[in-house]
Amino acid sequence: MMIDLFARATAARQHLRDCRLCPHACGSVRAVGAGVCRVGATSYVASEMLHMAEEELLSPAHAIFFSGCTATCSFCTAAKFAFRPTYGITPTPAQLAARIVQRQAEGARSVCFIGGDPAPHIPFILATLAEAGSARRIPAVFNSNFYLTDQALDLLMDAMDIFLPDLKFGPDGACGETIGGMPDYWPTVTGAIARVNRRGGTVIVRHLLMPGHFDCCTRPVLTWLARQPDLRVSLLTQYQAPAHARGVLSQDLTEAEVEAGKQLALQLALQLGLHLVS
Ligand code: SF4
Repeated sequence: MMIDLFARATAARQHLRDCRLCPHACGSVRAVGAGVCRVGATSYVASEMLHMAEEELLSPAHAIFFSGCTATCSFCTAAKFAFRPTYGITPTPAQLAARIVQRQAEGARSVCFIGGDPAPHIPFILATLAEAGSARRIPAVFNSNFYLTDQALDLLMDAMDIFLPDLKFGPDGACGETIGGMPDYWPTVTGAIARVNRRGGTVIVRHLLMPGHFDCCTRPVLTWLARQPDLRVSLLTQYQAPAHARGVLSQDLTEAEVEAGKQLALQLALQLGLHLVS
């Protein structure tokens, strides 16, 4: 469906004054960068590059990493910019659109909006896509923790070609809340994933294996994903504990944990049709 991206971007800009893009619902403090993510009215890009994405379908991707995040995961490996929302440069939407077209000419097969998390930057991302217009021929990918409101999803629907949500934490043990800093994590994120999946199109859900989180997170996450029609699932096994991680998350994944994750995924592929991609 053809949509007016300039109009969509204009509508999104209301969230720069009264932000409801994620369930933190910070409201008017967003304008001065005092919301949970501390992203203000200006979007900072930490880096952009041609990147060999984990999923073949997207690779090489033009990866655009925005600063700031709606989550506060204690094991974040991108803390340098995820928790520093003014890290990086401040291109205009027209400048970033020109870079997307350039990276497309260099061989990018997709343009991936990442962070931190891209949610606070939805107004800027829509403006960038509007500026790129028909010069952009590669799919736009929204790679997010998917801690999103319906209002954010309304803005993204049909503007994005591919959704690439993370589903990290399970429903029990409050991991999403205590580790990720996201209240109501499970119903919010699974609800958002189910909604974009209902629209049709490509949805690839990533699940990162985490040390010590097989029963509380990996098992229920993969089981839920296997029961969703048409979802593709990417199982990530490259967890690396950053120096600031604490407790069980300060350890590396063991070979046994990786094997258990892979075996469960295979079992669910056979029993429930879990669609694994690499
Ligand atoms: S995107 Fe940032 S400012 Fe907006 S509601 Fe979420 S945490 Fe608050």
